[in-house]
Amino acid sequence: MSDDKNQFGWNFDNTYARLSDVFFERVNPTPARSPVMVMFNEELARSLGLDAAELAKQGQNYFAGNTLFKGSEPIAMAYAGHQFGRINMLGDGRANLLGEHVTPKGERFDIQLKGAGRTRYSRRGDGLAALGPMLREYIISEAMFALGIPTTRSLAVVTTGEQVIRETALPGAVLTRVASSHLRVGTFEFAAGFEQGKNLRELADYTLRRHYPDLVSHPEPYVALLKAVIERQASLIVKWMQVGFVHGVMNTDNMTISGETIDYGPCAFMDRFSLSTVFSSIDVQGRYSYGQQPSIGQWNLARFAETLLPLFSANQEEAIAKAEEALDTYAEHLQRHWATGMRGKLGMVSAGEDDMPLFNRLLELMERNQADYTNTFRALSNGVMLDEALFKDADFLEWHKAWQARKPDLKLMRSRNPAVIPRNHMVEKALSAAVERGDYSVVQRLLEVVQNPFVEPGDGDEFKKAADDEGYQTFCGT
Ligand code: AMP
Ligand code: MG
Repeated sequence: MSDDKNQFGWNFDNTYARLSDVFFERVNPTPARSPVMVMFNEELARSLGLDAAELAKQGQNYFAGNTLFKGSEPIAMAYAGHQFGRINMLGDGRANLLGEHVTPKGERFDIQLKGAGRTRYSRRGDGLAALGPMLREYIISEAMFALGIPTTRSLAVVTTGEQVIRETALPGAVLTRVASSHLRVGTFEFAAGFEQGKNLRELADYTLRRHYPDLVSHPEPYVALLKAVIERQASLIVKWMQVGFVHGVMNTDNMTISGETIDYGPCAFMDRFSLSTVFSSIDVQGRYSYGQQPSIGQWNLARFAETLLPLFSANQEEAIAKAEEALDTYAEHLQRHWATGMRGKLGMVSAGEDDMPLFNRLLELMERNQADYTNTFRALSNGVMLDEALFKDADFLEWHKAWQARKPDLKLMRSRNPAVIPRNHMVEKALSAAVERGDYSVVQRLLEVVQNPFVEPGDGDEFKKAADDEGYQTFCGT
């Protein structure tokens, strides 16, 4: 099946590695001692035009980085980033971009190994990843994809046969991540800050060609680029919010230019609705809490806009005015996406005058009654009342009447409100079965369920049960 020229169906074309060499370091993955493939996404492999059967059999040495796929030219990418508000030089400290695969349909994807050894950008890190967090990224990114949310995806996880030292010794692993690119706000921060921004235009032109080809011939392509990224991020953040997703580490190096969700370190889905939900152990001030996500999005986009100023105009005042005008569109996009999304969630087939107050009132009552976000919307979609505080609240019953008067389309609602999300307690259970006992059946079952989120899970309520989120903690850079 896989002849030498077109091995496994890969078709690498590595345009990023043709950019000026300030943008990357050429570095090969560090080989692993004894790779075993524990996860392989056959469906994704097929959709990329790859030979899924052969990769399932022979992939482990490649997905560990021990052998390179034909046509791959591994690099680690340079980037900077505002981490909790402070700018740092970062870069791929534990990731290797194998190259860009072009599918038979002509779509281009970055193929990246995460956890395959040190690079120039590793600083004090070991360049490695532990199995638990790589499985977690696999599960949650695939769940996000199934929920219709733009995201990087996960093609494979291999264990390395080596230990990674964190607080304790943990089994090491490498995740293969697939992304429409790994260009980030932080890549632009790097380009703008490096040697007086002499490579900034090169990066911006590359980005336009790669992600926004229609804007290449725009009279103001760089302003148009900023506006396009603002639109995609507004849309993305609303999508997160509407499934109760808390990203958890919205540093500028974790905000893509493509509009895909990236970096599944400390993220989690909330159970009980609360604007102040935070899971990340280091986010003590709630900078990246559920309800802060729209304004942090704006803050990050302002950092992106700043990097582009020299390309807007030689006159700084004029450049700033253009940036501000673009940034002003963010709130409108956010509101529009929010309203459209919420109408879908509440089954409203047309827009009404008092939609906004109606949405807001429901959320207020949910917060007051500590209602489970997912289960509440799903119950409304199924036309059932739950035996829970919210559904006994007189104010809710009044709200319910007003909502019913809008004649909601329940079928539409069931296609917008998931029955299942990757609940924290289910994710933890699956990870410990895999990591502690080498039993992947729990991960597989969870994946099956979260990959079909709009279908009621067959075997009962375990997947729908809200565990107490109180005290659930997640961790960065694990
Ligand atoms: P993250 O928290 O995943 O967004 O990572 C922030 C920065 O830390 C990036 O530059 C990563 O490459 C780097 N990093 C995270 N973990 C490691 C590690 N184990 N070894 C080297 N660099 C790392
Ligand atoms: Mg990151």
